[in-house]
Amino acid sequence: MYAPPGVKTSKDFPIPDKMRAWVLDAPEKLSLKEKAVPVPKKAEVLVRIDAVAICATDLDVIAHGPPALIQGGLPYGKDWTPGHEYMGTVVALGPGVDEYKIGQRVTVEIHAGCGQCKRCREGMYTSCHNYGLNYGDVDKGHRANGFTTDGGFCEYQVNNINTLVAIQDDMSDEEATLVVTAGTAMYGLTELGGLVAGESVVVTGPGPIGLMGVAVAKALGAQPVILTGTRDNRLELGKKLGADHVINIRKDPDVVAAVRKANGGKGVDYVVECSAATNALNEALYMVNRGGKICLAAFPHEQVPVDVAHIVRNNVYLYGIRGEGKSATHRAEAFMRQKRFDATLIHTHTFALDDLPTALRYAKDRVDDAIKVVVKARGVAVRQEAAE
Ligand SMILES: [Zn+2]
Ligand SMILES: [Zn+2]
Repeated sequence: MYAPPGVKTSKDFPIPDKMRAWVLDAPEKLSLKEKAVPVPKKAEVLVRIDAVAICATDLDVIAHGPPALIQGGLPYGKDWTPGHEYMGTVVALGPGVDEYKIGQRVTVEIHAGCGQCKRCREGMYTSCHNYGLNYGDVDKGHRANGFTTDGGFCEYQVNNINTLVAIQDDMSDEEATLVVTAGTAMYGLTELGGLVAGESVVVTGPGPIGLMGVAVAKALGAQPVILTGTRDNRLELGKKLGADHVINIRKDPDVVAAVRKANGGKGVDYVVECSAATNALNEALYMVNRGGKICLAAFPHEQVPVDVAHIVRNNVYLYGIRGEGKSATHRAEAFMRQKRFDATLIHTHTFALDDLPTALRYAKDRVDDAIKVVVKARGVAVRQEAAE
């Protein structure tokens, strides 16, 4: 039985020595194997993973590698477990931990910065200067679950207490996995200026972060909130989450004109770009007012030409965000606890952990209109559909 020295456990939550874990053998190739249950160190706890959501970035990592960085390189064939949007129950405490109790339900942020670099000291731990330096002689202690350290497509994972967000009993496991998604949207809006009441906001791209961007902007008091996209069902969901106007750019190709019309003929104050479309940044530039601000929360795979003169002449501010820094996840959880929006609207499917390849296929190909697909190690029957 699991009983590492210095680690506090409880007979109410017995922990096995071994667990099931998916590992990334090669691009697009995962295998399910047995791994030792990890051991929490100082300021860390062991979380029993109760649910893990699939993110578009997981699909990128599994297919291409970056932004995952394992032992200084690509994440393949290194016995590494991806997955980063998970929640669970604290089942063991590392030495000195008294901030959390065994049995407590938590959701987890991805990034635990090194805590010693300039950015970490500024609260920008998602931009840690020691990203991925957590091995061998260069071990700075940086962790980003599912990016630079083992992630959540398994049964147990260790987490720094700084990455934990306590959740209430009335929040379901599935909803709790969305706290980080909402936290990313919250971080973007924080970087744009934080106080959003009365400001006009466009969100481009109704993926999970875009839809949570709509919800968080509305909860922060933005008006109007305008959502652009190509699929009516996603745009309808955006309305349920707080969008005042939606624009289907297939039907309304001059999206800049459509945005201005929806905002009383004027440009908007903020754009949160979540589509990763090649022309999205230039369109965002033409959507904002002079002095407006744009947050880039999605990344295209190719380089894109940008109308720099327009940025300069109009004093437009551009922000790139990574992850969910500055404790934005806690602010997002507060909104969700207060039921300011219903994040569960974007959760569409749940699969057993053993069915991860099928779950990934649903997320990637949007099978059955999938948006957020969740995987659970317990309590969900294995379907074992012919995925591959
Ligand atoms: Zn994610
Ligand atoms: Zn750091």
